[in-house]
Amino acid sequence: MDDNYITLTIGRQKNIALIAHDNKKADLIQWCEENKEILKNHFLCGTGTTARMITDRTGLPVRGYNSGPLGGDQQIGAKIVEGKVDFIIFFSDPLTAQPHDPDVKALLRIAQVYDIPIANNRASADFMITSSYMNEEYEHEIINFKKNITERSRTL
Ligand code: PGA
Repeated sequence: MDDNYITLTIGRQKNIALIAHDNKKADLIQWCEENKEILKNHFLCGTGTTARMITDRTGLPVRGYNSGPLGGDQQIGAKIVEGKVDFIIFFSDPLTAQPHDPDVKALLRIAQVYDIPIANNRASADFMITSSYMNEEYEHEIINFKKNITERSRTL
């Protein structure tokens, strides 16, 4: 067996993070409303303003972290590392400079490292939310972080 990787499971009930940049918040709220029946079966969280607005406008319970520019994206990234966020819908704005651009990049990177499904526009979100995996467990291979530390500390 290749012990450079470990198998982790994304459960049937997913821990979904919802994030939208300001120009995309209305779109994400609309998308959440359209997909409410599916979303209500999962655990939802999000950056502060996005989370509050989704709850206010759709009634879905969304646990809010700090606002994105104040560290919310980093909090969600940390939850990925801890295995507590396993699915992300992130309607980012490709046409507006963001003060927290490094945090956004960091979130995208850590989602990639941990093989987390992440949609950055509506079409991707539509494909993901209608996947049969939404109702199933999903096993994926993640870098074996314990072995990684053992080997780095031995060889560096
Ligand atoms: P917000 O943060 O939901 O607090 O507006 C989103 C972001 O810009 O990352």
